[in-house]
Amino acid sequence: MSVRKPTVLLLVPVYRVGEWTAAMAEAGLDAFVHGRDSYAPESIDYVLSFRPPPGLLKSLPKLKVIFSLGAGVDGFLADPEFPKHVPLVRFVDESLSTEMAQYVLLHILLVHRSQRALDDAQKESRWAQTMLPRRTQDTRVGILGLGEIGTVSARLLVELGFSVSGWSRTRKNVQGIENFSGAAALEAFLAQCDFLVCLLPLTPDTRGILNAKTFAMLPKGAYVINAARGGHVVEADVIPAIEAGQLAGATLDVFETEPLPSSSPLWRHPKVTVTPHIAAISELGPSVKMVVEGIRRHQRGEPLINVVDIARGY
Ligand code: NAP
Repeated sequence: MSVRKPTVLLLVPVYRVGEWTAAMAEAGLDAFVHGRDSYAPESIDYVLSFRPPPGLLKSLPKLKVIFSLGAGVDGFLADPEFPKHVPLVRFVDESLSTEMAQYVLLHILLVHRSQRALDDAQKESRWAQTMLPRRTQDTRVGILGLGEIGTVSARLLVELGFSVSGWSRTRKNVQGIENFSGAAALEAFLAQCDFLVCLLPLTPDTRGILNAKTFAMLPKGAYVINAARGGHVVEADVIPAIEAGQLAGATLDVFETEPLPSSSPLWRHPKVTVTPHIAAISELGPSVKMVVEGIRRHQRGEPLINVVDIARGY
C-alpha cells in the first residue's frame, strides 16, 4: 500500500518557483504552486507564504502547519479569517539577522560619518576636512524591539563603541545595552535616542508608533531608521518633522504601500533615504530547511520551533 506524501502549497516569488518545487521533491514532499497548479483544498497539509490572499488559509480544512517566509507575520494576521488554531511558524535565521544589522549599521554610519555631505564635497572638489563625526561613545542609538534582529543589531553597535539602548515589551538583560521595557518607559527611552531604529513586529500595539508625537519626544535633530514594517510610520508626519528640524532625516526601507508610489514626496526629499524593502531577504537554503525540518517535526509529533504567539501578534 502506498503512503500518501505530505503536501505543501507554495506561495513563493515567481522567480523562486523552480528552486522551491525541486527542493520539496528532494525532501519527498508533494508541492503545489498557488495560482499555477490545481489542487483539492482538503489535500493540503502545509502552506508556505509571506502574505497569503485573505481567506485562502481558511479554505484549506486539513491544514496542519503554516510556514512564514518572513520573520514578520503581519501579512498573515491581517487576514480576518486567519485560522488561529493552526500553528504559524516564522522564519528566524542568523544570516537574516546579520543582514538586517548590516543595513542598520550602514545607514547609521552614513549619517554619523557625514558621508552624504562628503560625497557632495567631492562633486565640488572641496576638501571638507572639518566634517568630523561626533564621538562614537557620545552617540546614542535606541532600538525599538530587542528581539532576534534587534539584539544582533544592538550588539554590533556596542562592539563599535556606540552607546546603545533598546525598548522591548518584557524586560531584557543584554550586556552593554540599556533596556527600557513597556509602554510606560517609551517616552524616557525616546528622550535619549540620537538615532532611533525601528525593528519591531507590526501589531495593533506598534502600528503608527513612529508619528509626530513620538518624533517630538526624541532629542531635536534625531535621525530615524525604519527597517521593520511600513505600518510603523505615519508617513505624513515624517517630512513635517524634518522641515521643523525635529528630525535630521530618515531612512525608510518599508512603506504602507509597496512599491512606494512615485507620487510620494518621500522619494524626493533630500533628507530622506528610501530603499525598496531590501534590508534583508530570506535566503532559499535556510527557508527550505525551516519547512522541511518543521514538517518532519510535525510528522514525528515533536514540538515545532519559532511558533508565533497569535494572541500577542508576533
Ligand atoms: P522578534 O524576535 O519577535 O522581536 C520583536 C521585539 O519587539 C521583541 O523584543 C519584543 O519584545 C518587541 N515588541 C513587540 N511588541 C512590542 C510592544 N508592544 N512594546 C515593546 N516592544 C515590543 O522579531 P524579529 O525577528 O527581531 O523581527 C522584527 C521585525 O523585523 C519583523 O517583525 C519584521 O517586521 C521586520 N523585518 C524586516 C525585514 C526587511 O527586509 N525590512 C526583514 C526581516 C524582518 P519582547 O522581547 O519583550 O517580546
